[in-house]
Amino acid sequence: KNIVVAIDGYSSCGKSTLAKALAKKLHFIYVDSGAMYRAVTLYFLRNETSLKDHDVIIDALEHIDLNFHSRDYQTHILLNGEEVSDEIRQMPVSENVSAIAAIKEVRMQMVKKQQKMGKSKNIVMDGRDIGTTVFPNAQIKFFMTADPKIRAERRYNELSIKGEKVSLEEIFENIAHRDFQDTTREESPLIRADDAIILDNTNLTEQQQLEFALEKIKP
Ligand code: C5P
Repeated sequence: KNIVVAIDGYSSCGKSTLAKALAKKLHFIYVDSGAMYRAVTLYFLRNETSLKDHDVIIDALEHIDLNFHSRDYQTHILLNGEEVSDEIRQMPVSENVSAIAAIKEVRMQMVKKQQKMGKSKNIVMDGRDIGTTVFPNAQIKFFMTADPKIRAERRYNELSIKGEKVSLEEIFENIAHRDFQDTTREESPLIRADDAIILDNTNLTEQQQLEFALEKIKP
């Protein structure tokens, strides 16, 4: 049977960094589930849909086609055929994605797609509900956390390198806001699965995190 590694945790905890490193090492496919919620959010922002208008959003879901391109373990996501990998990381999407991700019908569709991707292939998937809802039977689950200040600094450096003009305070606020929305929503809120291994990476290098995770995966 194929193997699923589920990585959940708070925003900007380094989930995708660890997930990519693991996928590369194990020759698994990496799936960034957050990119899917982000791409759906981008679609509605571009169409100037009111994000409070859930009926319109739910009806429009059938017009959204999402595809992943796996190249060198980076996420290349296509929204109706257009590569949007960079645009989905920008602040307008970050500020609105948790509201879209709280809509039950949106989650149902994303979960269905995600489950399909993990049906026959070995994958590492990161997100908020992978170990609880998408793959409750995943062979290995991690729950990642880190000091919120460190998380904001890491994200700030990442976005600055890409030339985005955004302040550390704005990022800190955004992370806190998303954590609040993600942990308090009604539909599969962010919560540690009982059998998920906690990984607090506040004081760990990327290499140390990879070694920790590999040790747990390999019997
Ligand atoms: O992982 P990332 O930070 O890119 O996810 C963006 C947002 O998408 C999260 O803050 C959360 O609201 C939502 N999300 C989710 N469930 C997932 C992955 C992401 O609700 N499995």
